[in-house]
Amino acid sequence: MPQARLIEGTALAGRIVEDTAKKAADLTARTGTAPCLATVLVGEDPASVTYVRMKHNRCRRAGIESRHVALPAATTTGELVAALRELSADPAVHGILLQHPVGEHIDERAAFEAIAPEKDVDGVTFASFATMSFGLPGFVSCTPGGIMRLLDEYDVGPAGKRAVVVGRSAILGKPVGMLLLARDATVTYCHSRTTDLSSVVREADIVVAAVGRPRLVRGEDIKPGAVVIDAGYNPGNVGDVDFDSAVERAGLITPVPGGVGPMTIATLLEQTVDAAARQLGV
Ligand code: NAP
Repeated sequence: MPQARLIEGTALAGRIVEDTAKKAADLTARTGTAPCLATVLVGEDPASVTYVRMKHNRCRRAGIESRHVALPAATTTGELVAALRELSADPAVHGILLQHPVGEHIDERAAFEAIAPEKDVDGVTFASFATMSFGLPGFVSCTPGGIMRLLDEYDVGPAGKRAVVVGRSAILGKPVGMLLLARDATVTYCHSRTTDLSSVVREADIVVAAVGRPRLVRGEDIKPGAVVIDAGYNPGNVGDVDFDSAVERAGLITPVPGGVGPMTIATLLEQTVDAAARQLGV
């Protein structure tokens, strides 16, 4: 059986980070100010602590300064909103990332909306969602933006294609569907209330799995030659697609790890430097 070609996210992400580091160095040399990303974490969830630490390490390696605001788990919505507004007003901070999940007692949407749109380098505000949906310049959600870059890198034009997005979260499924729609794909969203997921997935020329359920999408449901993007990341380095069976039918497929994952941080770094450039007027 022919095997799908692998979409190598690690390689593309490496090139994006290299270019971003050059831009950051150039910006710092020209303005005397290094781009700066502020991260905000509520509580001490171990996975979130690791993600934030990783983002700071990557920033440092790319010549981007970073600042961290650690808030206790008992932080209220009002306190979090105040912290984000302060960062939004601070001219030394060019990008803001609120690590989620933030805890069920917090109104996450109110917190996101406290991020100034020009500093929303993680693409979580309503303003960013709107520009993203209309295909206008602005900041994209990082994982969806990374997915679109992967499609472009492998010459997958979404126009006229049937795209099925499994998952509709605000940071992943919903925005990636809007980005595909803005690029003229015919988009179908699936979610936990979808009946007969298999029959919908079978129609897809492009499948994006963004669920958080190991191997939910089975190879037998992949249309031969389809492009399979697995954004899922489950314990044990397992995606939302059953890779071993899907690789036998797909034309292109992302591995887990090394597919979508590395693109998220690369997009974050790139958008932070872009935000700094705009704010510094260069
Ligand atoms: P989420 O907020 O939990 O959303 C999951 C989505 O999947 C929801 O829309 C849910 O539907 C849907 N869903 C749940 N069970 C389903 C089923 N049986 N059939 C079809 N749809 C189902 O998750 P998320 O934050 O979007 O993350 C999804 C996955 O992507 C996770 O594995 C996460 O680790 C990964 N992720 C990776 C990156 C990266 O690569 N850097 C970044 C972010 C997330 P309802 O809306 O109806 O509940």
